[in-house]
Amino acid sequence: MCPLQSLHIFYIFDSTAGSQTEVTTEISIDDLLGEVNRYEYYRYNGSLTTPSCNQAVVWTVFKDKIKVDENLLQATVPTPAKKTPPITSSKCSVGVSGGGLGESYDSLQFHLHWGNGVSVPGSEHTVDGKQFPMEMHIVNIKSSLNGNTTLAVQDPTGLAALGFLIEARTDNTTDEPAAWRNLTSYLSRITEMGQSVDITDPISLDSLLDGLCTSDYFRYNGSLTTPSCNEAVVWTVFNDTIKVSADLINLFSQTVHINDSSSILMQNVFRGVQSGLPVQRSSSPAPMSCSLGLLVLSLALWKS
Ligand SMILES: [Zn+2]
Repeated sequence: MCPLQSLHIFYIFDSTAGSQTEVTTEISIDDLLGEVNRYEYYRYNGSLTTPSCNQAVVWTVFKDKIKVDENLLQATVPTPAKKTPPITSSKCSVGVSGGGLGESYDSLQFHLHWGNGVSVPGSEHTVDGKQFPMEMHIVNIKSSLNGNTTLAVQDPTGLAALGFLIEARTDNTTDEPAAWRNLTSYLSRITEMGQSVDITDPISLDSLLDGLCTSDYFRYNGSLTTPSCNEAVVWTVFNDTIKVSADLINLFSQTVHINDSSSILMQNVFRGVQSGLPVQRSSSPAPMSCSLGLLVLSLALWKS
């Protein structure tokens, strides 16, 4: 059992949040396990313990412990040590329900669409013909599909996407709100394709909504707005908008490039409005419950 000798770790996180150090000498998993008894273990079907928490993991937890010298533990655990929250449920708290959705959904990811700052709008949805500077999408999968996106795109209601329109604040403030200031502060570290950054200062999706009213929304059955554009999405687009300072909105189209730093800036990242689909508007206050909690976000740039 456990022919792990061929696995090697090349990078290890150091105590400075988010940074990495290259491990120059090879360390095998076997070396790290030491004399652990590998014949006694617990087994269950569970989920990833980090978002998107897919129910996709066969867990094996060994009864025996790895014995490490106390001095080494003190040297490697950042002070004060962060206590890992207990896993009390096989489901993560990140998800959406209510608002007429047939069942609960778990959040998969969020992303943004923009045009060119506040001067060229880039939202994918329009309200009464009005396009907005930016739009945030939170993509969720039917909880019963256990994170299986292959099944989700074959189900007309397999995915539920939330669309939040973003417009510039009219009070001439800059750097507001704080959650967007925090989010945009990472853009300068993902200016080229393939770069990624760990967000070290926690940002919750709720904080990005900045008090937006969730009881007034539009609902229609539609498709993904990126290839393969499957007709598998229950769309909910909120009538209220997130108000963000113009300077922060401008950062998106002025900071990141479509390839390396010599390439053009990433602008107009949205799909145009499609031909008319029947759209319903929420008639009674039935707020969507977005129990989005604290989601540790990771930003990455990729080519669409
Ligand atoms: Zn989108």
